[in-house]
Amino acid sequence: MQEKNTKIQRISPSHPELNKIKEAAEIIKGGGTVAFPTETVYGLGANALDETAIEKIFLAKGRPQDNPLIVHISSIAQLDDLVENIPEKAYLLMERFWPGPLTLIFNRTNKIPDRITGGLSTVAIRMPNNNIALELIKHSGLPIAAPSANTSGKPSPTNSSHVIHDLSGKIDMIIDGGSTGVGLESTVLDISGDIPTILRPGGVTVEDLLTVLPEVEYDRAIEVIDKNIIPKSPGQKYKHYSPNAKMIIVKGSLEEIIQKTTQLAKEYESKGMDVGIMATKQTYYKYKNENTLIVGDRDFLETIAANLFNVLREFDETNVDIIIAEGVEEKGIGKAIMNRMKKAAGGVIY
Ligand code: AMP
Ligand code: MG
Repeated sequence: MQEKNTKIQRISPSHPELNKIKEAAEIIKGGGTVAFPTETVYGLGANALDETAIEKIFLAKGRPQDNPLIVHISSIAQLDDLVENIPEKAYLLMERFWPGPLTLIFNRTNKIPDRITGGLSTVAIRMPNNNIALELIKHSGLPIAAPSANTSGKPSPTNSSHVIHDLSGKIDMIIDGGSTGVGLESTVLDISGDIPTILRPGGVTVEDLLTVLPEVEYDRAIEVIDKNIIPKSPGQKYKHYSPNAKMIIVKGSLEEIIQKTTQLAKEYESKGMDVGIMATKQTYYKYKNENTLIVGDRDFLETIAANLFNVLREFDETNVDIIIAEGVEEKGIGKAIMNRMKKAAGGVIY
């Protein structure tokens, strides 16, 4: 691919400068690519109605062709062109969670290019809760397709330096709008069938959804790592979020985690490997390893969500051969944290 001259544009997250937003919007309107912050992770945006523009996203990321993209909108009126048969429950969900980290799967219209949906009859849509993202969509006057702005397979980007690392020279503009808040991708909820089904756990938890919906299911493919189960969300089958080093997860009570992590670290070191430990505020002082990083505070799982991808990328800057990562309890946002950790570890759990 020919090297592009990627413009890095700093924009204020609280008061996005209009002239800078307009410049980025012109790139989108002209069929170009702009990486921008959302409240979940940074997205790599292009005009969702333009096949050629969308193609540039797949190329820059090295994204598998059958992995569909989420379309981002800034007003509910934009849905009219894009989706059909909106179920009643969609309005309840949009009212409560938009703008926010909830992606809804609707039946699509034929205005949506096949490149967006990987040929599916449904389309994924969300309204991000970030001023820069909302202003950019509004001023481009278009729905913007935006997967995470990373090289496919790598941890998702939670600040502009991650995006610069992965995509500089491959896209037209990178907006630097500070760190993202949630730090994990949106929850993907399929509402095109009878029972709302979570295809990917994320920023909005099942507990949150149950305040609005009488019932919610998880797609079986989230729980089971089995090649014979085909996930409804095509992206879920790919290797994801992977640091360079091998990673393993240790689960159990806090005592068990500390004991097992210490034991495994010793074992790997005796084999001559450089060991990294992903610890928490509650446990890090128990470990002697030089490459021990604190991912967050177990009493506030949001801190772990916000910092997880950043810490995985920090391990890439060290020369560790293996990362031993402490698991967290799978409730609330912990469900999404463990989903990302399991994928990063390729399912290796103690
Ligand atoms: P990313 O944009 O990298 O956060 O990934 C988007 C996620 O949404 C992937 O896991 C996709 O498989 C999923 N997705 C997008 N469109 C659809 C759809 N129409 N049906 C099911 N899953 C979808
Ligand atoms: Mg992604």
